[in-house]
Amino acid sequence: MNNKKVAFYTLGCKLNFSETSTIARSFREEGFERVEFTEEADIYVINTCSVTDNADKRFKTIVKQAQKVNEDAFVIAVGCYAQLKPEELADVNGVDLVLGATEKFKITNYLNDLTKNDLGEVHSCEIDEADFYVGAYSIGDRTRAFLKVQDGCDYKCTYCTIPLARGISRSDKLENVLNNAAEISAKGIKEIVLTGVNIGDYGKGEFGNKKHEHTFLDLVKALDEVDGIERLRISSIEPNLLKNETIDFVAESNTFVPHFHIPLQSGSDDLLKLMKRRYMSGLYSDRVGQIKEVMPNACIGVDVIVGFPGETEERFLETYNYLNELDISYLHVFTYSERDNTPAADMEGVVPTKVRKKRSKMLRGLSAKKRRAFYESQLGNTYTVLFEGENKEGYIHGFTENYVKVKAPWDPGLVNTLHQIELTSIDEDGLVRFEFASEKVAV
Ligand code: SF4
Repeated sequence: MNNKKVAFYTLGCKLNFSETSTIARSFREEGFERVEFTEEADIYVINTCSVTDNADKRFKTIVKQAQKVNEDAFVIAVGCYAQLKPEELADVNGVDLVLGATEKFKITNYLNDLTKNDLGEVHSCEIDEADFYVGAYSIGDRTRAFLKVQDGCDYKCTYCTIPLARGISRSDKLENVLNNAAEISAKGIKEIVLTGVNIGDYGKGEFGNKKHEHTFLDLVKALDEVDGIERLRISSIEPNLLKNETIDFVAESNTFVPHFHIPLQSGSDDLLKLMKRRYMSGLYSDRVGQIKEVMPNACIGVDVIVGFPGETEERFLETYNYLNELDISYLHVFTYSERDNTPAADMEGVVPTKVRKKRSKMLRGLSAKKRRAFYESQLGNTYTVLFEGENKEGYIHGFTENYVKVKAPWDPGLVNTLHQIELTSIDEDGLVRFEFASEKVAV
């Protein structure tokens, strides 16, 4: 122990959460004690995201929050936003150090001098230097672990800054992924969620070249064989990379759960072309059809962007109607906002902010309707639920294999346990009530 304390704040996606955990472990190895972000610490690390709306405002608020607890603390920014706009972050009052994509995992090398400076120091890199892979997984933060299997992206979607923030597509070695998965399970974590920027591209860059040594299906099959893992969840996967063979394998697997999250972004083929996505809506419908054919109770989540340049009323309605007809379970709606250095930022047909907001509201309404219909279709079925660790206003929550969110009165004995339950009814808050199918016996 070096008697110093460190606290972390993570913005953005599951990948950032897994990387914060890895960074936190490197601090622990140097003898730091990890405390909550609301507690007094000597160092505050903020893992930033560039997708977050109002990312700069959000960042400033978090820095202020840290300074309120300890104004003398050393504040470090890492993550996607730190790579994209290092100088901007360094200029924020109170920030001492900004580390780019290659430097964030070497963070403890920068801790010899923790004196606060008037100006934040930047250690960044050109993004094409971020061509090596650093493994990560989260543990201890949640009952689920996020296991990073891949990083970066070689696609060129016209709205996206992620390739600029995270670099080329590269993967962890299959052997490392399997070892990490076994390690996570040995620690008593019941569910592992596979994460990455473009996980369907798994295998690319595994041995430092652009070739696919393994495929995503190879990864899925190998993980399915690892002893001791209770549940595996594929997080978000591009529709063109989700092959029917993978869908069929998941249907037969005992550990991979029937839940898919597949970015669509638009139901208009014209917009998909403008976005430079690598599929048309027809392929998307086929994937959904295949999933539902082999797993009728599967949960399917969809990412969709509203207000992309060129999204006329007609094209928006095309998206709305397409999603309305499709057999999916919920939507994640993103309101388009211009990002520097992306082709979409210079495109014609800019959609007024007010219209973007209205469309986003319409799709969020559609999402609620879809989720409700999905939950209703599941009532009477028996599933296994994994209970989570938080007491939220007297309730404990959990998720079934197919991502139905259930609630029960708070009972600490249920935390991080799996139980067979029967879904009985839907509460006013939209969550599902249940009965224990087998005398509260953990499975
Ligand atoms: S697939 Fe497209 S949206 Fe996703 S990370 Fe790659 S470039 Fe960005």
